Amino acid sequence: MMEEFSAGGVLFRGDEVLLIKSPSETWTFPKGLIEAGEKPEDTAVREVFEETGIRGKVLALLGEVTYWYMREGKRIRKRVVFYLMDYLGGEPKPSWEVKDARFVHAREAGLLLKYKGDKEMLEKALSMKSS
Ligand code: ATP
Repeated sequence: MMEEFSAGGVLFRGDEVLLIKSPSETWTFPKGLIEAGEKPEDTAVREVFEETGIRGKVLALLGEVTYWYMREGKRIRKRVVFYLMDYLGGEPKPSWEVKDARFVHAREAGLLLKYKGDKEMLEKALSMKSS
């Protein structure tokens, strides 16, 4: 069985949250593969910046999402650890890896997100932010 491990960020600027549009036209959170020797928190900060141009800092661990997908006929089990992040600077500018990057109001994000795991991470982030 193949396994992949990525890290990503649910990054807030006030009441707005940072989303990307993936190559498959799905709104989701920025994330990417954890490199050898890299701390997952550092991956989240790096991938948020690489995919969107936004600089952020990790506030807390949010949780993990697990899913399966097929690549070149092989089943891959993927784990993604997400961090609650705060905005430090920059304006969203999609990299070549993504189709769009923007801040949307948390309410709108709830409607745009498609994956169950992403919706759960948003809910968790909102409850942690307000407490
Ligand atoms: P990474 O961003 O970690 O480098 P990637 O871009 O290579 O990864 P994924 O984003 O994991 O790959 O996408 C691989 C497949 O999994 C795609 O078909 C995508 O639609 C699907 N996928 C992505 N995120 C989720 C999720 N949270 N739940 C279910 N399926 C997902």
